[in-house]
Amino acid sequence: AQEVLRVEDLEKHYPIRGGFLSRTDLAIQAVNGVSFSLRRGETLGIVGESGCGKSTVCRTVMKLTEPTGGRIFSMGHDITDLTRAQMRPHRRNLQMVFQDPMSSLNPRMTAEEIVAEPMQVHGTLRGAAARKRVAELLGKVGIARASLGKYPHEFSGGQRQRIAIARALALDPSVIVCDEAVSALDVSIQAQILNLFKELQQDLGLAYLFISHDLAVMEYLCDRVAVMYLGRIVEIAEVARIFSEPKHPYTRALLSSVPRPDPDHDRSGRVVLTGEVPSPIRPPSGCYFRTRCAHATAHCAEVPPPLRTMGPKEKVACHLHDPEARQKMLG
Ligand code: SF4
Ligand code: MG
Repeated sequence: AQEVLRVEDLEKHYPIRGGFLSRTDLAIQAVNGVSFSLRRGETLGIVGESGCGKSTVCRTVMKLTEPTGGRIFSMGHDITDLTRAQMRPHRRNLQMVFQDPMSSLNPRMTAEEIVAEPMQVHGTLRGAAARKRVAELLGKVGIARASLGKYPHEFSGGQRQRIAIARALALDPSVIVCDEAVSALDVSIQAQILNLFKELQQDLGLAYLFISHDLAVMEYLCDRVAVMYLGRIVEIAEVARIFSEPKHPYTRALLSSVPRPDPDHDRSGRVVLTGEVPSPIRPPSGCYFRTRCAHATAHCAEVPPPLRTMGPKEKVACHLHDPEARQKMLG
C-alpha cells in the first residue's frame, strides 16, 4: 500500500528558559530521533508511559509545533519546513482527533457548522453541496440528522467525539492522528468509538497514528505498535508479535503491568518496572532504559543500542538482541 506518512529521525528539544534553570545548554529532549512510516489503511500505535514523547510526536507530525530535527513527509511531500500558509494544501491529508472533544469543539457552533467549517476554510465545498456532505459525514459517524442544529453541550461525550471525527473527515484526509482519542470516554462508549474508527478505516482506507496509554485499546485497534521510552522508539513490530513475544525489556515490563484475562498466559515471566523515569533533560548515557533494566551491564552504559532490524516488520533497540553486542555485554 501507498506510504501516506513518513517521519525520519524526528527530534523535538525544548530549550529551558526562565528561573534558576535558565541555561542555554540544557533542553528537554522530548523526542530523540524517531523514525517510522505509515501506509494507506494501516494503524500504527505509539505506546509508552506519560512523558515518553508520544504526544509530542503527534503534535510535531501535525506541525502544531516545529521539529528541531529530522524530516516529515506527507504523501511523499517534505512538509518539515513549510510555513503555516504553505501547509494549507497538506492539512487536508493530515487531520487530528484529540482526547477531549469538549475543548476541541467550538461551544458556540452547531454540529453542522463544526463539520462544515474545514470545508469553508479550505474552499472545498459550499452551499447546498456542503450541507449535503455535512449531513452525510455526520450520518457516517452515527449522528442523527435531527441533531445537526445542536450545540456541543447538548451531546454526550461519545457523541461529541463522533462529531470531532466527522470534522476530521471533512477534507478527505489520508491520515488521522489520534492522541488518546478514546481515553476520556466510558469503557462501553470507548468500544463503540473504536468500532467506528475500524469501520471508517475499512470504508475510506484511512491510516491512523494512534496514541494511547491503554494497551488493550492498542491490541484491539493497531496493526503495528511502536513502544517509546524517553523520546525514542525502543521496539516496533506487528501488534500480535508485540503482545505475544515482547522483546525489549521495557516492552516486557510495560506489558507485564497489564492484567491479562487469559488464564493460560504465563505470569511467571512478569517483570516489574521499578525506579523513576530519568529526566529528559539529562538522559542516561548509552541505553536510556539502563537505569531500570534488570539486564543492564557496563556495555549498556557505554554504547546506545541502535534500533536494529530484526525481521521484515520488526525493530528492537537492545544489545541483548544483537549477537555481537550480547558477546560484549557478557564479556
Ligand atoms: Fe537493558 Fe542493556 Fe537492553 Fe538497554 S541495551 S534494554 S540496558 S539490556
Ligand atoms: Mg500525552
